[in-house]
Amino acid sequence: MCGIFGVRGHPDAVHLAQLGLYSLQHRGQESVGVVSIDAGGAARAVRTMGTLSDAMSHELAKIPGVSAVGHTRYSTAGSSTIENAQPALARSKGGYITLAHNGNLINAGELRLALEDEGAIFSSTNDSEVIVHRIAHSRADAPAERLADALQGVEGAYSLIVAMGDTLLAARDPRGWRPLTMGRLGDAVVFASESCALDIVGATIEREVEPGEIVAVNAEGTTTLHPLPKRDEHKCVFEYVYFARPDSRVYGGSVDRARRALGRRLAREWPAPGADLVFSVPDSSNSAALGFAEESGVPYELALIRNHYVGRTFIQPTQAGRDAKVKVKYNAVREVLAGKSVVMVDDSIVRGTTTRGLVAMVRAAGAREVHMRVSSAPVTGPCYYGIDTPSREELIAANYTQAEIAAHLGVDSLGYLPLDGMLESVPGGPKGFCHACFSGDYPTPPPADADKLRFGCGC
Ligand code: AMP
Repeated sequence: MCGIFGVRGHPDAVHLAQLGLYSLQHRGQESVGVVSIDAGGAARAVRTMGTLSDAMSHELAKIPGVSAVGHTRYSTAGSSTIENAQPALARSKGGYITLAHNGNLINAGELRLALEDEGAIFSSTNDSEVIVHRIAHSRADAPAERLADALQGVEGAYSLIVAMGDTLLAARDPRGWRPLTMGRLGDAVVFASESCALDIVGATIEREVEPGEIVAVNAEGTTTLHPLPKRDEHKCVFEYVYFARPDSRVYGGSVDRARRALGRRLAREWPAPGADLVFSVPDSSNSAALGFAEESGVPYELALIRNHYVGRTFIQPTQAGRDAKVKVKYNAVREVLAGKSVVMVDDSIVRGTTTRGLVAMVRAAGAREVHMRVSSAPVTGPCYYGIDTPSREELIAANYTQAEIAAHLGVDSLGYLPLDGMLESVPGGPKGFCHACFSGDYPTPPPADADKLRFGCGC
């Protein structure tokens, strides 16, 4: 998963991009980058592994610009290198091309081989670079048309922010998998994955970039194009469930309202009569647990405390590392839990490692009964469209029955929100969402595994 941000026509563009990326840091902590574009269209990049740092701010202070594009990246395993950090920046005969991508292309492998056959040399293994090459190949003059040419035949999930010369462009794939919001700050136009990044820079929300739309902003104003074949919308429901921040609006709806509605529906589907308290696995399930408490009347408590200062590098991508991660990241409040029958709400169970570790921790703190409630349906399949979900073999719900999962987790009862309840709870639902990782209903033929691993940026 990734976060993208773009601003055009502001003397403080680079600083605004940094602020925007702070608000999108939850969408990716593997690498971060900003490209600054000056009044003459010259572009310079600063990228680094990890999160935004003071060192990066010093570097960025040296390259002021009137437009800027930023990216935070969270890739699938194996491709976490500085070469893959974005925004991509290339120089073509038409000038600089800057590109920031959120999503995952499903035919990047194929497109890349075709370009390599023609002699193209790639500098990264991420799927997004394919689009940069295709822009460079376009014979059109206008930036929006060059991007439209490039996107013909590109399949999969993309929300893009692209800069060419003094034009800033934003585009969303025709199914609209990933969110992208447009805002205004005085005369400047701002684009961001989530509206929380518009709030931090003081921009007002104008609208979502529509599925299949390219918006181009230059000195003359804003134009819009719909050059791609229309498709049924498939917005990622997991953005509402887990990924986006609750203070954001995505796909035109409030993430907080979505999560509370998920929690309320969960309380109706899987009540926990006799429970003394309900608590969340912070922070991603806070709003859902509040919804559960509101609906059920069971008091909301803070029973788990999350440590916000543990860097991702400390967390190893191995099973042993994941077990340790639970203890490093969370601790239980004994005074809240001792002797109580408790409802633990989490937004999702993926491998089950986190839940199992937390249940053991909650019991060790004295909880008498633990009732697990999950504000999404069981995750049974990988995501090919930009969420870092593991392969089917690692997904607990793809391999075990609900009773087996409850036994493995060590809970007294387990309730997942059913798929229909989940889709009916989110703004604009139940239609128009991608729920492939829950239902197996993939909107495209799944790519070959090798494709995903070799070329996917998984963001
Ligand atoms: P697991 O231990 O694999 O079951 O992880 C489940 C936990 O990870 C839940 O608390 C979710 O909030 C969180 N989560 C769900 N999806 C993702 C993801 N794609 N990347 C990172 N964390 C996730």
